[in-house]
Amino acid sequence: MECHVGVIKGDGIGPEIVAEAKKVLDKIGGKYGHTFRYEEILMGGCSIDATGVPLTDEAIAAAKASDAVLMGSIGGNTTTSPWYKLAPELRPEAGLLKLRKSLNLFANLRPAYLYEELKEACPLREDIIGDGFDMMIMRELTGGLYFGARETKEVDGAMTAVDTLTYNEHEIRRIARRGFDIAMKRKKKVTSVDKANVLDSSRLWRKIVEEVAKDYPQVVLEHMLVDNCAMQLVKNPAQFDVILTENMFGDILSDEASMVTGSIGMLSSASLNDTKFGLYEPSGGSAPDIAGQGIANPIATILSAAMMLRYTFDLDKEADAVEQAVRQVLKDGYRTIDIMPQEEEKRLTVKQVGTGEMGDLICARI
Ligand code: NAD
Repeated sequence: MECHVGVIKGDGIGPEIVAEAKKVLDKIGGKYGHTFRYEEILMGGCSIDATGVPLTDEAIAAAKASDAVLMGSIGGNTTTSPWYKLAPELRPEAGLLKLRKSLNLFANLRPAYLYEELKEACPLREDIIGDGFDMMIMRELTGGLYFGARETKEVDGAMTAVDTLTYNEHEIRRIARRGFDIAMKRKKKVTSVDKANVLDSSRLWRKIVEEVAKDYPQVVLEHMLVDNCAMQLVKNPAQFDVILTENMFGDILSDEASMVTGSIGMLSSASLNDTKFGLYEPSGGSAPDIAGQGIANPIATILSAAMMLRYTFDLDKEADAVEQAVRQVLKDGYRTIDIMPQEEEKRLTVKQVGTGEMGDLICARI
């Protein structure tokens, strides 16, 4: 297969971690007979330096023309970088928001997986962790409370603020379909999270999700109220496969789920639209504090590339090979600085490696 991948290296550790993900993709290409053709796209602080804006129209066109975009991360030190003296619409993050909007990326996917070898980074009790957990938070990204009409005005002498949570059935149906499609590639269970005991938007959400479920008889659907879901994530995370939810609930629950895995450098993410296109990026930021030192953990970006193989190119076997290689490298005792054990005694049982070496070690296990 010939795969046209737009590559946004971005700022800070972005170029370092993206280089390792490309290395892994090329290894997959060589082994399984695929060609990855990369096209560099400027976005973020590096685009501001080169063009004066965080995302040009040419960059948007190049992203649209790609099958998928692999991204590092953008932005700098928000206190000291001159990028943050610019007007908000000219700052690095404005480029990412504009790209998401231009590509209509309405579905955000964030896996939360606990690696046996990194269990001690998980803040949950051993008996709760059990054999670990493997869930996918699917969050609606372009509707709901963050995009509804809002205003602040004086009403009867008191300052009053209003935010509006709006969803129409088409928005719910398209994200629900995506959620069930993803569940079909996993353990075939969807937990739809809402607040249907209070909110009209949630009652419509539940109705449409149930309609969509009829087309996926192999998938088990359950509904859960958002407050209960927040508790269940720390009480029994292993019960979940795909968590399907609206924008604000997903914003909060996905951070909670990633926290219980313990390490930001391990967490991948994808944003999808209603074609096979996706934007794949690590959940963390550009980590300006460690940029250029060759110590950043490239695994989140490598796992994002695995998501790209699975969800844009339908190359499940190849995605499995990358994920298996990551598990093996951890089993073999290799760690980047961010996932080194805290206890001195345990540190002696593993070996600390840099960004490039971690990429090489993963390639060697594919
Ligand atoms: P951050 O995620 O960049 O860093 C938080 C901490 O985690 C730092 O100590 C950093 O060293 C560490 N860390 C992050 N990724 C790591 C990795 N791969 N390996 C090892 N350690 C890692 O968050 P921040 O410091 O709040 O933000 C820095 C910049 O990143 C800001 O400009 C912010 O706006 C931007 N940002 C960008 C994105 C994105 O591109 N999607 C997302 C979040 C933040």
